[in-house]
Amino acid sequence: MSLNAEIICVGTELLLGEILNTNAQFLCQELSALGVNVFYQTVVGDNPQRLSQAVELAKSRSDVILTTGGLGPTCDDLTKQTLAKCFGLELVFHEESAARIRDYFEHKLHSAKMPENNLQQAMLPQGCTILENDWGTAPGCAFRAQGCHVIMLPGPPGECRPMFLERVVPYLQALSGEVILSRSLRVFGMGESAVEQLFRERMDAMTNPTLAPYAKTGEVELRLTAKAESPQAARALIAPAEAEVRATLGDLVYGADV
Ligand code: AMP
Ligand code: MG
Repeated sequence: MSLNAEIICVGTELLLGEILNTNAQFLCQELSALGVNVFYQTVVGDNPQRLSQAVELAKSRSDVILTTGGLGPTCDDLTKQTLAKCFGLELVFHEESAARIRDYFEHKLHSAKMPENNLQQAMLPQGCTILENDWGTAPGCAFRAQGCHVIMLPGPPGECRPMFLERVVPYLQALSGEVILSRSLRVFGMGESAVEQLFRERMDAMTNPTLAPYAKTGEVELRLTAKAESPQAARALIAPAEAEVRATLGDLVYGADV
């Protein structure tokens, strides 16, 4: 099943140019690697009317709406309220999430007292799947309504990224009924453009697995991603492609999944 996704990043600071929208870049890269089409991305400020308009438009044209930002405890954090309203859902207090937030303050932030407004973060759309946040306080959430899958993630990249990888990827996999497996080949001694040039034609021709280069500090990551009905089948798709990459690059591939 091929899904069309749309990303909505919420935050006035993004529109003012104070913050670069790195969440959108990260999510687009990751979703593309998973075989999910991203056809639109939008940035809206912390404004419920304009966010509602963006959501209504997204609803009309996308299978998956993924938002980041606006899950904080302050009065300008309105993403959950707005999305719940757009889909006709109530927000309900989730005791377990409240306990996790209290625990986060006590054990990770070593703060004696949690400000009461943090409990706002434990208000979640009725019936949603809660995406637990081990990297901060705001839980994410996901639900299906009006023919759309809606996923909300916190704005800070240090939370958004691991939440996507650890919580959203399994959620999307469960939706598609397929297993998506990646293998990361680490390349040292050749720049991204040279690596890309070597593999460009093959990358364009490959559909399953896909091959994508990522420039990292001092190295290049080549990621092979396969979709199949089981992990074994996905690994079997990746193996010959990995062998081909290794045959081309030789010792420049210094490791895999390290
Ligand atoms: P929020 O979840 O809206 O409270 O966002 C908290 C912080 O996360 C913001 O002040 C930004 O520093 C950062 N942030 C929010 N959205 C993004 C984004 N799309 N890309 C990068 N950083 C972001
Ligand atoms: Mg914000």
